[in-house]
Amino acid sequence: MAAAAVRARSLVVGGGIAGVTCAEQLSLQFPDDVIYLLTAAPLVKAVTNVRQVSRALEEFDVEEQTSAALQSQFPNIRVVHSALKELKADQQVVVTEDGTCYQYDQLCVCTGARPRLIVEGNPYVLGIRDTDSARTFQQHLTRARRVMVVGNGGIALELVYEMEGCEVIWAIKDKSIGNTFFDAGAAEFLIPQLKSEKPPTSLTCKRMKYTTEGGSGQQDGGIGSALGPDWHEGIDLKAAQEILRSVHIEAECEVHRILLHQEFKGLKISALSVPGSEKDGATSDPADWPVYAELTNGRIYGCDIIISATGVVPNVEPFIGGNNFDLGEDGGLCVDDHMRTSVKNVYAAGDVCTAGWPPSPHWQQMRLWTQARQMGCYAAKCMTAERQGETVQMDFCFELFTHVTKFFNYKVILLGKYNAQGLGADHELLLRCTPGREYVKVVLHGGRMMGAVLIGDTDLEETFENLILNGMDLSAYGEDLLDPNIDIEDYFD
Ligand code: FAD
Repeated sequence: MAAAAVRARSLVVGGGIAGVTCAEQLSLQFPDDVIYLLTAAPLVKAVTNVRQVSRALEEFDVEEQTSAALQSQFPNIRVVHSALKELKADQQVVVTEDGTCYQYDQLCVCTGARPRLIVEGNPYVLGIRDTDSARTFQQHLTRARRVMVVGNGGIALELVYEMEGCEVIWAIKDKSIGNTFFDAGAAEFLIPQLKSEKPPTSLTCKRMKYTTEGGSGQQDGGIGSALGPDWHEGIDLKAAQEILRSVHIEAECEVHRILLHQEFKGLKISALSVPGSEKDGATSDPADWPVYAELTNGRIYGCDIIISATGVVPNVEPFIGGNNFDLGEDGGLCVDDHMRTSVKNVYAAGDVCTAGWPPSPHWQQMRLWTQARQMGCYAAKCMTAERQGETVQMDFCFELFTHVTKFFNYKVILLGKYNAQGLGADHELLLRCTPGREYVKVVLHGGRMMGAVLIGDTDLEETFENLILNGMDLSAYGEDLLDPNIDIEDYFD
């Protein structure tokens, strides 16, 4: 161990929501300690204005702050702006890029995740992760005639809806759009929004809000925190052309290969034009493009830029070399029900970790803003309990999966096993859909409500949350559950 190691009883790595929440909680628990927060980016994320919508659903604002602002609010937090380079777990020491060593009693790893790119090192293939990458994309977009979006999760959904002034080709590996969050029915409900003009102002919608102070970005090329809800607000996603929204979906395919302009020309093959509304587009495209994507369905499209939105990869690299971490199937640091990794005195929270405990029947891990906060907070509680020789109960938030967001300008609430995840074939679905207004889906298993998708202003979230949590047998109610003429809140009062 280096002689000059800084002694840090509690050390948190990562200035995103998970790391900052963890450091804040530790700071409150141990007011006489210095809590070290190492982070690669100059700004940190802070949760403000937490509002409890129901027992399990909460909304909050997120602000990007300077470390000075965080330290003035929590005077015993010391933010160190230097990336962690190496963990020597056998010595309980970390080494930062500037060569400083920190010896910890307890370490919490909150280094987040980065986009999984369909191909690395291609200047025309971008991933969106932080303020910097969102701005790089915006610069490309100002000159773009056509953009290909690859992926079917939340980022792809938001991007496709928000982009204007260019043709968009959306390549998804599933049968229907938004598969991470929706089923085919919900996708059908949303698709008309892609074909209509975007309303000039947003519909009123309760949701988490992402704000930045002073229009900041990462000035020094560090690894920034992941963006979050409303990340595209304040970023103009308008391309150069005066054309109406034009989105073409290529379903059940992936990108087979990407060709730069010269490679494409050398192969003497042809690309397709984007199918128009009136005719299928099996016509070849005479335009020149800087990059071409060949899809696994054999179609080739040229475009100006390709956005790779195909999920994330946990940032575990500086930790795993020489240390004996168990990794989850998705490459995250596997944690138990006390947020402990397999390495002694090392905890992990947020996007970097994989929940390794047997989950409650209504919860699943998803790399989302809310879970980063919940895990950061719970990790701090577990670290505190361990230090004080106490026991801690698992937080209630891990009982029920909840997510509030907005897609295609609709308020969207997801509860529990909203897509019947892991329920097998014997589940039932109840649906209520008013085109253009609301889409409600309830997932039942053995007569009990296991999950729900609420799109639009349904006001059903609190009642459904209770029905899921209390496990009541609803078999007798049948379709009355979704009868719009029955006040369901009164019904179950
Ligand atoms: P991060 O926020 O990624 O923070 C990681 C921190 O670790 C950063 O401060 C980074 O600088 C630091 N770091 C990394 N490596 C090192 C190192 N070696 N040494 C020191 N520090 C390091 N979630 C939602 O709930 N709703 C949404 O609508 C939504 N939209 C999104 C849109 C986009 C474009 C993206 C990219 C993500 C979105 N998410 C959304 C996901 C959400 O942003 C993340 O789940 C959440 O921010 C994860 O928080 P975290 O603290 O675990 O990690």
